[in-house]
Amino acid sequence: MRLTTVGTGTAAPVADRVQAGHFVEVGGMRVLLDCGSGVSFRLASLGIDWATITHVALTHFHADHVLDVPTLLTAWRHGMLPPRSAPLEIIGPVGTAALVDRMTDALGISWREYGFPVTIREMPAGERIALADGIALESRSVPHTAESVAYLIEGPGHRIVYTGDMGFDEGLARWATGCDVLLIECSLPAAMAIPTHLTPEQVGAIAKVASPGLVALTHMYPPLDKVDVPAAIAAHYEGHVVVCHDGWSTEL
Ligand SMILES: [Zn+2]
Ligand SMILES: [Zn+2]
Repeated sequence: MRLTTVGTGTAAPVADRVQAGHFVEVGGMRVLLDCGSGVSFRLASLGIDWATITHVALTHFHADHVLDVPTLLTAWRHGMLPPRSAPLEIIGPVGTAALVDRMTDALGISWREYGFPVTIREMPAGERIALADGIALESRSVPHTAESVAYLIEGPGHRIVYTGDMGFDEGLARWATGCDVLLIECSLPAAMAIPTHLTPEQVGAIAKVASPGLVALTHMYPPLDKVDVPAAIAAHYEGHVVVCHDGWSTEL
């Protein structure tokens, strides 16, 4: 099982962090968690084979998490020879089909007409599905937008939890307890705290409850550059914390 943080940025365009996108390889499944602007080109610059992605799982419908879905669909149809024939599954909260409908219809071609089989699977929060034998994906509602979910991906002997965007929620921390990697949003410094995103201090409080093998930070807004993020987390949590960059990777 391998996790690569493809895009560790947000809605704010910066040179070295594209929008949200995280890539998990597990047992032949190649899963992209969120797909914001810049993710498809970052996959290419990191040498990750975007042509063979099997699943795209969306946490919510904000632009910085979904805008490159049409870019990738177009790449699979017009950006490779021969064009893609392998099936693709797009997974997301209830409303994902309507979102992808609107995005692709606006661009003049429905997702049903890209020339390879696309399935859209809407997962009510709390559901657990099998991606393949021994590989499960589970979602949990998080406080951000009405549809927002976190995901747990479980492969043989290992679990990764990806929070997507969220405000503080101790229930999420309990749900994530004992995971190998807690890939968690860390958006804004405490001085700019808002209810729908996490500060480093709140990440520390969640990590203290969840006690993961590793805390991996993503979704960082530029004001965090002026803060000693590991120190702010360390005031609440003593475990291993990584401030991820685009292209950071870990093998489980
Ligand atoms: Zn976001
Ligand atoms: Zn969001």
